[in-house]
Amino acid sequence: MDERKSRVWAEISLAALRHNVDYLRALLPAGCRLMPALKANAYGHGAVPIARELMRLGVREFCVATADEGAELRRAGIGGDILILGYTHEGKLSAVNEYNLIQCVVDADYLKMLLCQSLPLRVELGVDTGMHRLGIDWRDSAAPPLLCGQNKLKLEGAFTHICTGDEEFSAQQKRRFEGFTNAVSLAGIELKRRHLMSSQSLLTMPWLGGDLARVGIALYGLMSRRGDAPEHEGRLKPVLTLKTRVASLRDISAGEGAGYGLGYRAEHDGRLATLPIGYGDGLPSCAAGRARVLINGQPAPIVGRICMDQCLVDATNIDCKRGDEVVLIGRSGGAEISAYELSESCGMITNELLSRLGPRVERIVM
Ligand SMILES: *Cc1c(COP(=O)(O)O)cnc(C)c1O
Repeated sequence: MDERKSRVWAEISLAALRHNVDYLRALLPAGCRLMPALKANAYGHGAVPIARELMRLGVREFCVATADEGAELRRAGIGGDILILGYTHEGKLSAVNEYNLIQCVVDADYLKMLLCQSLPLRVELGVDTGMHRLGIDWRDSAAPPLLCGQNKLKLEGAFTHICTGDEEFSAQQKRRFEGFTNAVSLAGIELKRRHLMSSQSLLTMPWLGGDLARVGIALYGLMSRRGDAPEHEGRLKPVLTLKTRVASLRDISAGEGAGYGLGYRAEHDGRLATLPIGYGDGLPSCAAGRARVLINGQPAPIVGRICMDQCLVDATNIDCKRGDEVVLIGRSGGAEISAYELSESCGMITNELLSRLGPRVERIVM
Protein backbone atom coordinates (compact mmCIF):
# COMPACT_ATOMS: atom_id res chain seq x y z
CA MET A 1 0.00 0.00 0.00
CA ASP A 2 2.69 2.46 1.08
CA GLU A 3 5.27 2.53 -1.70
CA ARG A 4 7.43 5.30 -0.31
CA LYS A 5 10.97 4.23 0.42
CA SER A 6 12.09 7.36 2.24
CA ARG A 7 13.50 7.42 5.74
CA VAL A 8 12.16 10.89 6.61
CA TRP A 9 9.99 12.95 4.34
CA ALA A 10 7.88 16.09 4.19
CA GLU A 11 4.73 16.02 2.13
CA ILE A 12 4.13 19.43 0.59
CA SER A 13 0.53 20.14 -0.32
CA LEU A 14 0.31 22.54 -3.27
CA ALA A 15 -3.46 22.55 -2.83
CA ALA A 16 -2.97 23.99 0.66
CA LEU A 17 -0.50 26.53 -0.74
CA ARG A 18 -3.02 27.61 -3.40
CA HIS A 19 -5.69 27.94 -0.75
CA ASN A 20 -3.43 30.15 1.37
CA VAL A 21 -2.51 32.33 -1.61
CA ASP A 22 -6.20 32.88 -2.38
CA TYR A 23 -6.97 33.55 1.25
CA LEU A 24 -4.13 36.05 1.69
CA ARG A 25 -4.82 37.81 -1.61
CA ALA A 26 -8.36 38.45 -0.43
CA LEU A 27 -6.95 40.28 2.60
CA LEU A 28 -4.58 42.53 0.66
CA PRO A 29 -5.41 46.21 0.68
CA ALA A 30 -6.12 47.73 -2.75
CA GLY A 31 -3.02 47.88 -4.94
CA CYS A 32 -0.99 45.57 -2.70
CA ARG A 33 0.59 42.37 -4.10
CA LEU A 34 2.02 39.28 -2.44
CA MET A 35 5.80 39.04 -2.26
CA PRO A 36 6.30 35.53 -0.88
CA ALA A 37 9.29 34.93 1.39
CA LEU A 38 11.22 31.93 0.08
CA LYS A 39 14.19 32.20 2.40
CA ALA A 40 15.64 29.19 4.23
CA ASN A 41 14.39 26.84 1.52
CA ALA A 42 10.90 28.34 1.72
CA TYR A 43 10.78 27.78 5.49
CA GLY A 44 11.86 24.20 4.93
CA HIS A 45 9.19 23.46 2.31
CA GLY A 46 11.50 23.44 -0.73
CA ALA A 47 12.07 26.82 -2.39
CA VAL A 48 12.03 25.70 -6.02
CA PRO A 49 8.74 23.74 -6.12
CA ILE A 50 7.04 26.41 -4.00
CA ALA A 51 8.32 29.20 -6.29
CA ARG A 52 7.19 27.30 -9.40
CA GLU A 53 3.67 26.93 -8.07
CA LEU A 54 3.59 30.60 -7.06
CA MET A 55 4.69 31.57 -10.59
CA ARG A 56 1.77 29.52 -11.92
CA LEU A 57 -0.49 31.51 -9.62
CA GLY A 58 0.76 34.75 -11.13
CA VAL A 59 3.22 35.83 -8.44
CA ARG A 60 6.14 37.79 -9.93
CA GLU A 61 7.92 39.21 -6.87
CA PHE A 62 9.79 37.10 -4.35
CA CYS A 63 12.11 37.69 -1.42
CA VAL A 64 14.96 35.58 -0.07
CA ALA A 65 17.61 36.09 2.59
CA THR A 66 20.80 35.47 0.61
CA ALA A 67 22.31 35.82 -2.85
CA ASP A 68 22.79 32.04 -3.00
CA GLU A 69 19.09 31.48 -2.39
CA GLY A 70 18.26 33.89 -5.20
CA ALA A 71 20.75 32.21 -7.53
CA GLU A 72 19.23 28.79 -6.81
CA LEU A 73 15.80 30.07 -7.84
CA ARG A 74 17.18 31.62 -11.05
CA ARG A 75 19.01 28.43 -12.00
CA ALA A 76 15.68 26.62 -11.60
CA GLY A 77 14.15 29.04 -14.09
CA ILE A 78 12.25 31.31 -11.69
CA GLY A 79 11.68 34.72 -13.25
CA GLY A 80 10.33 37.97 -11.87
CA ASP A 81 11.92 40.11 -9.18
CA ILE A 82 13.94 38.44 -6.44
CA LEU A 83 14.83 40.71 -3.53
CA ILE A 84 17.61 39.76 -1.10
CA LEU A 85 16.47 40.87 2.35
CA GLY A 86 19.88 40.80 3.98
CA TYR A 87 23.59 41.46 3.80
CA THR A 88 25.66 40.30 0.86
CA HIS A 89 29.46 40.44 1.08
CA GLU A 90 31.10 42.77 -1.45
CA GLY A 91 32.84 39.79 -2.99
CA LYS A 92 29.49 38.19 -3.81
CA LEU A 93 27.87 41.16 -5.52
CA SER A 94 28.86 39.76 -8.89
CA ALA A 95 26.35 36.94 -8.28
CA VAL A 96 23.67 39.53 -7.49
CA ASN A 97 24.38 41.07 -10.86
CA GLU A 98 24.80 37.82 -12.77
CA TYR A 99 21.49 36.40 -11.54
CA ASN A 100 19.62 39.69 -11.86
CA LEU A 101 18.77 39.83 -8.14
CA ILE A 102 17.92 42.92 -6.12
CA GLN A 103 20.23 43.73 -3.22
CA CYS A 104 18.81 45.51 -0.20
CA VAL A 105 20.73 48.43 1.28
CA VAL A 106 21.45 47.29 4.83
CA ASP A 107 22.62 50.69 6.10
CA ALA A 108 24.09 54.02 4.99
CA ASP A 109 27.66 52.74 5.10
CA TYR A 110 26.70 49.81 2.87
CA LEU A 111 25.11 52.24 0.43
CA LYS A 112 28.43 54.09 0.15
CA MET A 113 30.19 50.80 -0.55
CA LEU A 114 27.62 49.94 -3.22
CA LEU A 115 28.20 53.32 -4.87
CA CYS A 116 31.93 52.69 -5.00
CA GLN A 117 31.89 49.27 -6.61
CA SER A 118 31.71 48.96 -10.38
CA LEU A 119 28.71 46.68 -11.05
CA PRO A 120 25.37 48.00 -12.34
CA LEU A 121 23.23 46.67 -9.49
CA ARG A 122 19.52 46.71 -8.76
CA VAL A 123 18.99 47.80 -5.16
CA GLU A 124 16.12 48.36 -2.74
CA LEU A 125 16.47 50.65 0.27
CA GLY A 126 16.05 49.06 3.66
CA VAL A 127 14.77 51.60 6.17
CA ASP A 128 15.24 51.12 9.92
CA THR A 129 12.08 52.52 11.50
CA GLY A 130 12.75 51.24 15.00
CA MET A 131 13.63 47.56 14.87
CA HIS A 132 17.32 48.48 14.81
CA ARG A 133 18.29 45.46 12.75
CA LEU A 134 18.63 46.56 9.17
CA GLY A 135 18.25 49.58 6.95
CA ILE A 136 19.13 53.24 6.78
CA ASP A 137 18.01 55.07 9.91
CA TRP A 138 14.69 56.82 9.25
CA ARG A 139 16.15 60.10 10.56
CA ASP A 140 19.14 59.96 8.20
CA SER A 141 18.63 62.74 5.69
CA ALA A 142 22.18 62.54 4.35
CA ALA A 143 21.92 59.07 2.80
CA PRO A 144 19.17 59.48 0.14
CA PRO A 145 20.89 62.39 -1.69
CA LEU A 146 23.82 60.04 -2.33
CA LEU A 147 21.54 58.36 -4.87
CA CYS A 148 21.00 61.59 -6.81
CA GLY A 149 22.86 61.98 -10.06
CA GLN A 150 24.43 58.53 -10.01
CA ASN A 151 23.60 55.97 -12.65
CA LYS A 152 25.29 52.86 -11.33
CA LEU A 153 22.64 51.65 -8.93
CA LYS A 154 19.13 51.08 -10.18
CA LEU A 155 16.81 51.84 -7.28
CA GLU A 156 13.71 49.64 -7.26
CA GLY A 157 11.97 50.60 -4.04
CA ALA A 158 12.14 50.86 -0.28
CA PHE A 159 10.95 48.73 2.58
CA THR A 160 10.89 48.53 6.34
CA HIS A 161 9.94 45.75 8.72
CA ILE A 162 7.10 45.87 11.22
CA CYS A 163 8.56 44.13 14.24
CA THR A 164 5.76 43.92 16.82
CA GLY A 165 2.04 43.23 16.91
CA ASP A 166 1.53 46.53 18.70
CA GLU A 167 -0.78 48.82 16.72
CA GLU A 168 0.58 52.03 18.11
CA PHE A 169 4.22 51.20 17.50
CA SER A 170 3.37 49.84 14.04
CA ALA A 171 1.58 53.09 13.18
CA GLN A 172 4.69 54.96 14.32
CA GLN A 173 6.90 52.75 12.12
CA LYS A 174 4.57 53.48 9.19
CA ARG A 175 4.83 57.25 9.79
CA ARG A 176 8.61 57.08 10.03
CA PHE A 177 8.77 55.01 6.83
CA GLU A 178 6.52 57.42 4.95
CA GLY A 179 8.52 60.38 6.20
CA PHE A 180 11.69 58.81 4.87
CA THR A 181 10.31 57.63 1.53
CA ASN A 182 8.58 60.96 0.90
CA ALA A 183 11.90 62.71 1.45
CA VAL A 184 13.51 60.33 -1.05
CA SER A 185 10.82 61.11 -3.61
CA LEU A 186 11.12 64.85 -2.98
CA ALA A 187 14.83 64.56 -3.68
CA GLY A 188 13.78 63.43 -7.15
CA ILE A 189 14.58 59.76 -6.63
CA GLU A 190 11.90 57.46 -7.95
CA LEU A 191 10.68 54.53 -5.83
CA LYS A 192 8.67 51.98 -7.79
CA ARG A 193 7.38 50.29 -4.66
CA ARG A 194 7.24 50.68 -0.91
CA HIS A 195 6.47 47.85 1.47
CA LEU A 196 6.33 47.11 5.16
CA MET A 197 3.96 44.27 5.99
CA SER A 198 4.80 40.62 6.68
CA SER A 199 2.43 37.81 7.73
CA GLN A 200 1.32 39.06 11.09
CA SER A 201 0.86 42.64 9.99
CA LEU A 202 -1.13 41.63 6.89
CA LEU A 203 -3.43 39.47 8.98
CA THR A 204 -3.91 41.83 11.88
CA MET A 205 -3.09 45.36 10.61
CA PRO A 206 -3.75 45.42 6.86
CA TRP A 207 -4.31 49.20 7.12
CA LEU A 208 -0.52 49.51 7.16
CA GLY A 209 -0.82 49.22 3.37
CA GLY A 210 2.05 49.37 0.91
CA ASP A 211 2.60 47.98 -2.58
CA LEU A 212 3.70 44.54 -1.40
CA ALA A 213 3.15 42.26 1.58
CA ARG A 214 6.24 40.12 2.21
CA VAL A 215 4.44 37.04 3.43
CA GLY A 216 6.29 34.00 4.70
CA ILE A 217 4.86 31.88 7.48
CA ALA A 218 1.18 32.52 6.66
CA LEU A 219 1.73 31.32 3.12
CA TYR A 220 2.77 28.00 4.63
CA GLY A 221 -0.50 27.90 6.56
CA LEU A 222 0.70 28.93 9.99
CA MET A 223 1.50 31.86 12.20
CA SER A 224 4.70 32.08 14.23
CA ARG A 225 2.74 31.35 17.38
CA ARG A 226 -0.73 30.09 18.06
CA GLY A 227 -2.84 33.14 18.83
CA ASP A 228 -0.90 35.60 16.63
CA ALA A 229 -3.96 36.11 14.42
CA PRO A 230 -6.77 34.20 16.12
CA GLU A 231 -9.54 34.92 13.62
CA HIS A 232 -7.48 33.68 10.67
CA GLU A 233 -5.60 30.73 12.10
CA GLY A 234 -8.07 27.94 11.43
CA ARG A 235 -8.61 29.28 7.91
CA LEU A 236 -5.07 28.88 6.70
CA LYS A 237 -4.06 25.35 5.71
CA PRO A 238 -0.70 23.94 6.82
CA VAL A 239 1.30 23.01 3.72
CA LEU A 240 3.80 20.63 5.32
CA THR A 241 3.38 17.20 6.89
CA LEU A 242 6.47 15.58 8.44
CA LYS A 243 6.72 11.81 8.46
CA THR A 244 9.12 9.01 9.19
CA ARG A 245 8.64 5.33 9.91
CA VAL A 246 9.31 2.77 12.60
CA ALA A 247 12.85 1.47 12.09
CA SER A 248 13.01 -1.04 14.90
CA LEU A 249 11.06 -2.24 17.94
CA ARG A 250 12.41 -3.68 21.19
CA ASP A 251 11.11 -4.58 24.60
CA ILE A 252 12.38 -2.84 27.70
CA SER A 253 11.87 -3.92 31.30
CA ALA A 254 10.93 -1.69 34.19
CA GLY A 255 14.04 -0.07 35.62
CA GLU A 256 16.16 -0.38 32.45
CA GLY A 257 17.60 2.69 30.78
CA ALA A 258 17.71 3.65 27.11
CA GLY A 259 19.60 6.03 24.85
CA TYR A 260 22.70 8.17 25.43
CA GLY A 261 23.46 8.57 29.12
CA LEU A 262 20.55 6.19 29.67
CA GLY A 263 18.57 9.40 29.65
CA TYR A 264 15.32 7.43 29.72
CA ARG A 265 14.43 5.05 32.54
CA ALA A 266 11.49 2.70 31.93
CA GLU A 267 8.96 2.88 34.75
CA HIS A 268 7.15 -0.21 33.52
CA ASP A 269 7.75 -3.10 31.18
CA GLY A 270 7.12 -1.80 27.72
CA ARG A 271 8.24 -1.44 24.13
CA LEU A 272 10.41 1.19 22.48
CA ALA A 273 10.30 2.13 18.81
CA THR A 274 13.40 3.57 17.16
CA LEU A 275 12.59 6.25 14.59
CA PRO A 276 15.13 7.15 11.88
CA ILE A 277 14.93 10.92 12.47
CA GLY A 278 17.19 13.02 14.66
CA TYR A 279 18.46 16.51 15.23
CA GLY A 280 20.55 16.16 12.07
CA ASP A 281 17.26 16.20 10.19
CA GLY A 282 15.92 19.16 12.15
CA LEU A 283 14.07 17.41 14.96
CA PRO A 284 15.05 19.70 17.85
CA SER A 285 16.88 17.90 20.65
CA CYS A 286 14.76 19.81 23.15
CA ALA A 287 11.73 17.82 21.95
CA ALA A 288 13.07 14.92 24.04
CA GLY A 289 10.71 14.13 26.89
CA ARG A 290 8.31 16.86 25.75
CA ALA A 291 6.95 16.05 22.31
CA ARG A 292 5.01 13.13 20.91
CA VAL A 293 4.53 11.48 17.55
CA LEU A 294 1.59 9.57 16.06
CA ILE A 295 1.99 5.92 15.12
CA ASN A 296 -1.08 4.57 13.36
CA GLY A 297 -3.11 7.39 14.89
CA GLN A 298 -1.87 6.74 18.42
CA PRO A 299 0.30 9.12 20.44
CA ALA A 300 3.78 7.94 21.43
CA PRO A 301 6.02 10.21 23.56
CA ILE A 302 9.61 10.88 22.50
CA VAL A 303 11.85 9.51 25.29
CA GLY A 304 15.56 9.69 26.06
CA ARG A 305 17.97 11.99 24.29
CA ILE A 306 17.44 12.69 20.62
CA CYS A 307 20.42 11.48 18.57
CA MET A 308 21.75 13.01 15.37
CA ASP A 309 19.97 10.49 13.14
CA GLN A 310 17.54 8.63 15.39
CA CYS A 311 15.26 8.95 18.36
CA LEU A 312 13.25 6.68 20.63
CA VAL A 313 9.55 6.75 21.39
CA ASP A 314 7.56 4.83 23.94
CA ALA A 315 5.37 2.58 21.78
CA THR A 316 4.04 0.43 24.61
CA ASN A 317 0.54 -0.84 23.75
CA ILE A 318 0.65 0.63 20.26
CA ASP A 319 -0.14 -1.83 17.50
CA CYS A 320 2.73 -1.28 15.06
CA LYS A 321 5.51 -3.00 13.17
CA ARG A 322 8.74 -2.05 11.44
CA GLY A 323 8.09 0.19 8.45
CA ASP A 324 4.85 1.67 9.78
CA GLU A 325 4.38 5.36 9.06
CA VAL A 326 4.97 7.83 11.89
CA VAL A 327 3.67 11.41 11.85
CA LEU A 328 5.64 14.17 13.58
CA ILE A 329 3.65 17.06 12.09
CA GLY A 330 0.24 16.39 10.57
CA ARG A 331 -2.69 13.99 10.84
CA SER A 332 -2.80 10.27 11.44
CA GLY A 333 -6.11 8.49 11.83
CA GLY A 334 -8.33 10.90 13.73
CA ALA A 335 -5.42 12.52 15.58
CA GLU A 336 -3.26 15.51 14.70
CA ILE A 337 0.03 17.01 15.83
CA SER A 338 0.26 20.56 14.56
CA ALA A 339 3.48 22.45 13.89
CA TYR A 340 2.33 24.64 16.80
CA GLU A 341 2.33 21.68 19.17
CA LEU A 342 5.79 20.45 18.18
CA SER A 343 7.35 23.92 18.18
CA GLU A 344 5.74 24.83 21.51
CA SER A 345 7.10 21.68 23.10
CA CYS A 346 10.56 22.88 22.02
CA GLY A 347 10.05 26.48 23.07
CA MET A 348 10.34 27.57 19.43
CA ILE A 349 8.24 29.48 16.97
CA THR A 350 7.00 27.55 13.94
CA ASN A 351 9.35 29.51 11.64
CA GLU A 352 12.37 28.13 13.46
CA LEU A 353 11.14 24.55 13.58
CA LEU A 354 10.29 24.46 9.87
CA SER A 355 13.32 26.35 8.58
CA ARG A 356 15.63 23.91 10.36
CA LEU A 357 14.29 20.86 8.52
CA GLY A 358 17.42 19.68 6.80
CA PRO A 359 18.42 18.42 3.37
CA ARG A 360 18.05 14.78 4.41
CA VAL A 361 14.29 15.30 4.69
CA GLU A 362 12.97 14.31 1.28
CA ARG A 363 10.39 16.80 0.00
CA ILE A 364 7.47 15.17 -1.74
CA VAL A 365 5.29 17.62 -3.60
CA MET A 366 1.69 16.53 -3.81
C1 LIG B 1 11.32 36.79 6.87
C2 LIG B 1 10.87 38.15 6.55
C3 LIG B 1 9.56 38.37 6.14
C4 LIG B 1 8.49 37.30 6.19
O1 LIG B 1 8.07 37.16 7.53
P1 LIG B 1 6.84 36.25 7.97
O2 LIG B 1 6.61 36.63 9.38
O3 LIG B 1 7.28 34.83 7.84
O4 LIG B 1 5.71 36.57 7.09
C5 LIG B 1 9.22 39.65 5.76
N1 LIG B 1 10.13 40.66 5.78
C6 LIG B 1 11.38 40.47 6.16
C7 LIG B 1 12.33 41.61 6.15
C8 LIG B 1 11.81 39.22 6.58
O5 LIG B 1 13.07 39.05 6.97
